[in-house]
Amino acid sequence: MDQIRIKDLRIFAHHGVYEQEKEQGQNFCVSAVIYTDMEKAGKSDDITDAVDYGAVCLFIDNYMRENRFDLLEAVTRHVAEELLFEFPAIHKVELEVEKPDAPIPLRFNSVSVKIERGWHRVFIALGSNMGDRLKYLERAAANLQADARFRNINVSDYMETAPYGGVEQDDFLNGVLEAETLYSPWELLGRLQEEEQLAERKREVHWGPRTLDLDILFYDDLILAEKKLSIPHPDMKNRQFVLKPLAELAPSFVHPVYRKTVAELLAALTE
Ligand code: ADP
Ligand code: MG
Repeated sequence: MDQIRIKDLRIFAHHGVYEQEKEQGQNFCVSAVIYTDMEKAGKSDDITDAVDYGAVCLFIDNYMRENRFDLLEAVTRHVAEELLFEFPAIHKVELEVEKPDAPIPLRFNSVSVKIERGWHRVFIALGSNMGDRLKYLERAAANLQADARFRNINVSDYMETAPYGGVEQDDFLNGVLEAETLYSPWELLGRLQEEEQLAERKREVHWGPRTLDLDILFYDDLILAEKKLSIPHPDMKNRQFVLKPLAELAPSFVHPVYRKTVAELLAALTE
């Protein structure tokens, strides 16, 4: 993706573990790589279509002077996230914050912390087969909508599904939610489990009845195979109640393991 690069922006601010650093302040040096789509601005030659790098520099300067943190890690993380909230056209940012005068009694050039933060495209399967099923699904979607770490949420139609996995139980209501998120995969799993807890979900029978089930289907084109988190969701190619709503939202999304589009996976299952 296209980039804007900012090198060595000097900022005088008051971050540090020591009292003296907080009181007296010191120099910081900020570098950023901003990932944004420049197609439109390149064509129109209009600043309102671009990420205004002057505004970005002023924003970083202002945020770093107005706030105080002990750790460079915290400064860097907060600045990166605030940039993503403030400038929606920024897709991803790599941010490095340096302390050239860090209180270390040795000779050195500088110390710095560098992180990368950005919006990730995710698909989440929603399911419920207990109580007011629609209410559980809609409340979960509304709660994610209200969380600033999600944006551009789309929800598919919901569909009625006979239960899966051999346990005798009521029919499910299923759907898929698409979003962009700042959460890492593990943070996202935790966030979705919080939502399941809010729906008073109890984990009794595996594949048994539940008020709310939220599963991560895709996280960009990430492939992760850990015991507690598999992405893409392993069994999706056999589940029409996942593929059908998914195909409604993103038929041409390519499954990173099978290298087939969602529409192709659905067609193969329907045959
Ligand atoms: P299931 O969704 O398989 O019917 P649960 O909702 O009870 O069952 O989830 C069981 C465990 O599955 C969770 O504790 C979680 O750690 C793990 N898991 C593995 N991959 C995923 C994923 N992609 N999305 C959600 N949970 C997952
Ligand atoms: Mg689950």
